[in-house]
Amino acid sequence: MRTLLDLVLPLECAGCGVPGEQWCTGCSRALYVPPVVVRPRVDPGVPCWALGTYSGPRRSGIIALKERGRRSVARPFGRALAEAVGHLRVAGEIDPPELGSLVLVCAPTRARAARARGGDPVLRCARIAAEQLAPETVLVPELLRMSTGVRDSVGLSAGQRQSNVAGRVEVVGVRRSRSDNGGARTGSCTVLLVDDVVTTGATLAESARVLKDFGVPLAGALVVAHA
Ligand SMILES: [Zn+2]
Repeated sequence: MRTLLDLVLPLECAGCGVPGEQWCTGCSRALYVPPVVVRPRVDPGVPCWALGTYSGPRRSGIIALKERGRRSVARPFGRALAEAVGHLRVAGEIDPPELGSLVLVCAPTRARAARARGGDPVLRCARIAAEQLAPETVLVPELLRMSTGVRDSVGLSAGQRQSNVAGRVEVVGVRRSRSDNGGARTGSCTVLLVDDVVTTGATLAESARVLKDFGVPLAGALVVAHA
């Protein structure tokens, strides 16, 4: 659904500004690519893949989506993430659907920031990626939350970012009880952490650690761009 903002602004590509389209063919070519392996400074302990660097249409698109509330960008991003999943499967990096149901877990965002932006844009992208992979059933549970007290990470060093998020990522919406047997259930799942940008990897690493502690084995992290 197009937002009010999309309706009142003259239509131009959110990636490059060319008039007439939400997301042009040229910018699509920059997104629909096999993901590349990235190695953030803070090692998340699992493979991390990105669609490219934080530049050009990826950067413009992320800013439009996150800072300007341009929700339509979630569609090409979601499609690109779905295609990236296909590439990772073909390359044997993650299991095919017959070996494990795909679960896309969004990296946690600061709650207040997400509310101010009218919902979590990464969650929107992940949901569209799941739709694109239909008829395969892909779960997009709202599993991770950043607790209060986390500062905006802009301008922080890798070490500062690590201590900023340390112990602040929480698993929500799932009960871990003896009868639940969560480990057995997640054994047949391929869990991918999804985010828009990876900078130092601090949030990814903390998320991976928390999920592991919770008995959710992470297959890797997939992001739109790496800084
Ligand atoms: Zn464009």
